[in-house]
Amino acid sequence: MTAVADIMDYDEVVERFDPVLGLEVHVELNTRTKMFCGCANVFGAEPNTQVCPVCLGLPGALPVVNAKAVESAIRIGLALNCEVAEWCRFARKNYFYPDMPKNFQTSQYDEPIVFDGYLDVELEDGEVFRVGIERAHMEEDTGKSLHVGGETGRIHGAEHSLLDYNRAGVPLIEIVTKPITGAGARAPEVARAYVKALRELLLALGVSDVRMEQGSLRCDANVSLMPKGSSEFGTRTETKNVNSLRSVERAVRYEMQRHAAVLAEGGTILQETRHFDESTGTTSPGRRKETSEDYRYFPEPDLVPIAPSREWVEELRKTLPEMPWERRKRVQQEWQLSNEELRDLVNAGALDLVAETVDAGAAPGEARSWWVSYLAQQANNRGVELGELSITPKQVARVIELVAQGKLTNKLARQVVDGVLAGEGEPDEVVEARGLEVVSDDSALQKAVDEALAAQPDVAEKIRGGKVQAAGAIVGAVMKATKGKADAKRVRELVLAACGQ
Ligand SMILES: [Zn+2]
Repeated sequence: MTAVADIMDYDEVVERFDPVLGLEVHVELNTRTKMFCGCANVFGAEPNTQVCPVCLGLPGALPVVNAKAVESAIRIGLALNCEVAEWCRFARKNYFYPDMPKNFQTSQYDEPIVFDGYLDVELEDGEVFRVGIERAHMEEDTGKSLHVGGETGRIHGAEHSLLDYNRAGVPLIEIVTKPITGAGARAPEVARAYVKALRELLLALGVSDVRMEQGSLRCDANVSLMPKGSSEFGTRTETKNVNSLRSVERAVRYEMQRHAAVLAEGGTILQETRHFDESTGTTSPGRRKETSEDYRYFPEPDLVPIAPSREWVEELRKTLPEMPWERRKRVQQEWQLSNEELRDLVNAGALDLVAETVDAGAAPGEARSWWVSYLAQQANNRGVELGELSITPKQVARVIELVAQGKLTNKLARQVVDGVLAGEGEPDEVVEARGLEVVSDDSALQKAVDEALAAQPDVAEKIRGGKVQAAGAIVGAVMKATKGKADAKRVRELVLAACGQ
């Protein structure tokens, strides 16, 4: 039997069951040094060059808490609307793991630094779903094992394994949701939206570089099902280290379908960890899940408790930035955008660029129009992101200003933008070098109008006779003669005046 046959059709799953999710996100903090020692916290260094007796767990080495990591933990908690503990401790979580040199992880157990909050996440259609936050606690990362000789890079089939302890002791915050119920068919989407919002929040706080692909943000997705009408949680599985937003959604969806197939046949779900396979979109069993008793937690004797003063917490609250979604709401109001317009702007990755263009003096409507149409098209043609185009919001604002001053037509403005994108310099330099400024000198225009009328006497006659629509042909001829650099409206006025209209 193949894995695919072992799952239930998704529509049937959500007709018969209610999903319950629990999401655990590990975030590596971007502190300069590790959680309990002075080793550098950097990604990608030569293996085992960022280590010392403390993070190698050598006998007698004593840890010291990184104050900056505590500060980041509190700021994350405040941004997640959490309470901040008045007093909390670290705990030892005991388990044997080759990439954990101490054979225990210094973590927090029943005394997390922050707890009981929520995050409101926006789904694709604009609906807001509130995800409860159980807790966020501080801990340290493990080292990394590198399995050599096998085809998959997994331990199975490997000839030997290498250990890199550079990551051992890197500060981690683990953020744990309360059970997420009531999402129904949208549970996979809620999971994705939650991780996405959390990622945005952490980025805005500046506490982590949140690169899922490098593992600085990792998501474990717990899934269980309840038969419709029941409120008793089923047995859950935990899909570990899902490393992209899309995979979070796919992994939750797959596990819902797999659980449903097992339960519908009268089977039982094993409480276990699972691996998500990106290529097949399926999960496979990992280890049987330990319960917390298996870890024999006890208070860490080498570290003093943490008791953040209320004054400090309030100071930190003042450092919270405007949250990305608050900013979107504000901008939407200020720029008077519909939900759809805002969504297009966000999806195009244009929000910041437009905001900076507005800050540089452009009207929001003009700024938006440039970024989501002409510039989006240019980015698309070049196969790059909008933000990677070699034009700055300030330069776009200057082009918009030149149009507003009547020095450029929209058509000429696009040529100026082309010049800037081609590396020809500032907008004003491109105007100068390419000779793009609108011909606003009436005597020059008058000469071109007279010539065009003389060249098409029959048309001129019609206009004189009152057929003002015929003026279009003369205007076109003048625009051609001035290579598009005339203001068409002004030309039309001159043509009509010359014909006594
Ligand atoms: Zn160290």
